[in-house]
Amino acid sequence: MIAWLKENKIGATIVAVILFAIFLLILSLSKQNQFTTRPNDVRLHSAPNRHSRTLTTMKSGTKLLVLARQNGWWRVKNTKNDQVGWVAAWVANNTSLKTASTLSEATFVLDAGHGGSDTGAISIDGKHYEKTYTLATAEKTKKELEKTGARVLMVRDSDVVVPLLYIPRKAEAYQADAQISFHFDSAEQNNAASGISQFYYNANSQTLAQTLNRSLNNLPLQNRGVDTVPYLVIKDVSRPAVLLELGFINSKKDFSYIRQNSYQQKVARDIRQGLSQYIQ
Ligand SMILES: [Zn+2]
Repeated sequence: MIAWLKENKIGATIVAVILFAIFLLILSLSKQNQFTTRPNDVRLHSAPNRHSRTLTTMKSGTKLLVLARQNGWWRVKNTKNDQVGWVAAWVANNTSLKTASTLSEATFVLDAGHGGSDTGAISIDGKHYEKTYTLATAEKTKKELEKTGARVLMVRDSDVVVPLLYIPRKAEAYQADAQISFHFDSAEQNNAASGISQFYYNANSQTLAQTLNRSLNNLPLQNRGVDTVPYLVIKDVSRPAVLLELGFINSKKDFSYIRQNSYQQKVARDIRQGLSQYIQ
């Protein structure tokens, strides 16, 4: 081989290029499996969920080697002390989050009611659809929750129909801490009713509904309170789930708020505050 390489310069060059390419490939693969934690106090868990035991909390800048990946949770090894455990990848990699907390490890699913050909209820002026305001409010809530580092998954993020049966699937797949459905009410007669309500069905959702009831109490619309209703989206799901009716779209007074960015933003902040209490 050596003799052949000495005689054959072109062959030797090709072999050298191939060896160098293999070296670069191995180097890039090993780098892909390594990363550095960004926020402080990222928790190393015993299993890929936030309810598992915390083995230790790590300082910002801890170097980790990724051994496996599962639903956003990574099994990692600390390259300094060889300790192995699981981290929430969206928390460990978050560049804008300063300190990780239990809320930042939580997963929420937001369900903006209706969409596409299913317009939902129609506003008092006959010109606007419920589906527009459910999405606008859910998107603002997503932004608010993401400030805390929490993982937020949307059932829809554009004007499309999502079959009712599909809605709880995301919450199940990611073992979400809460699923929140956004809706606006409609009374049989215009201006016949006003106010907000919170609905749940399964017993494991009662605390979530009550916590959000309190956090939404300072909205400018009357709080009609918590009730149980067997709606499919909150009934056929094992995770805690709540459906919020955030005002009557065919009430002149309620719609004047519903359409305002400032009202939607207030709802978003109140939900964040409620979920933060719920998780802690
Ligand atoms: Zn609706």
